[in-house]
Amino acid sequence: MQDLYGREITYLRLSITDRCNLRCKYCNPEGSSNWLPHDEILSFEELVSICRAASMIGIKKIRLTGGEPLLRPDFVKLINLISEINTIEKICITTNGVLLEDFAYEIRKSGLRHINISLDTLKRDKFNYITGMDLFNKVWNGIQKVISEGFKPIKINTVIMSGINDDEILDIAGLTLDYPLNVRFIEYMPLGCRSKWDLDTVVSSQKIKEIVENTYGELTPVENSRLSGPAILYRIKNAKADIGFIAPITRHFCNICNRLRLTPEGRLRLCLFSDEEIDLKSILRSGGTQEDLRNAIEKGIIIKPARHALQQTKRHMSGIGG
Ligand code: SAM
Repeated sequence: MQDLYGREITYLRLSITDRCNLRCKYCNPEGSSNWLPHDEILSFEELVSICRAASMIGIKKIRLTGGEPLLRPDFVKLINLISEINTIEKICITTNGVLLEDFAYEIRKSGLRHINISLDTLKRDKFNYITGMDLFNKVWNGIQKVISEGFKPIKINTVIMSGINDDEILDIAGLTLDYPLNVRFIEYMPLGCRSKWDLDTVVSSQKIKEIVENTYGELTPVENSRLSGPAILYRIKNAKADIGFIAPITRHFCNICNRLRLTPEGRLRLCLFSDEEIDLKSILRSGGTQEDLRNAIEKGIIIKPARHALQQTKRHMSGIGG
């Protein structure tokens, strides 16, 4: 289905839990003492109903995210249930990697191959500083495990912040020379009422690209495929994987935004930066039909904002589904 601005909406990101096992400084540093109660969170059955209704109006790609999706008990069962929807062409997952060593084999068995792992540093002490947890080695082992299990593509999502991890741009870009790891540099965004965002901490994609090119030489542009994200892709000469730049701050891509988000408690979010949401859980729990769900999603697509206002949101990323 196209929205009012001619954008084909094909991508739904499901935040399947608000819980997380890291406390990233730029996301949800304090964690929460009041996670959503179990019955507030959509059940697998409800999530699948929404995916089915969304697929009827053209959603072809689904990403499981959170919070930390691997914390949701039995999440592989959800992957299997969504895989049964014929018109869904691609299912992916975004994880912090802490539990990947334990679950990589099971995830691969489900047929899911597309995995994004968030990693902002290659240093154990800095990982501890950014995430509040001493778990770098566990994440790194998880990454090695998904490589050996044959996941493809594997993407590493990195948020570069000035004075925090901008000294590691070359090392992180250099991963693409040694491993089949596609690096995505994402600009730091003002998400979450508790995160202390300021423009000076943002390192622009342009700046990161310059730093990479100064050492590794001119990057070769790579074409992005259908159903891929908004990253502008390049490759270092002789690299095994590509480097992508996602620039929501310095070069917004709202004109090609093809996505909707679903919060863990079943609210359809039309734009990352807009707190306007549609309550799909109420429809589900008041006996609504697939048709009712479909109509509500269609209504959401119609009011999807033309572009983001880059404002502080009420929710932090872990409650939206980054
Ligand atoms: N727990 C999973 C993970 O860490 O990948 C999934 C949820 S996490 C909220 C998804 C992504 O959002 C991560 O890659 C994280 O770096 C990104 N993120 C969170 N807050 C952000 C912010 N303020 N700016 C840019 N990216 C952010």
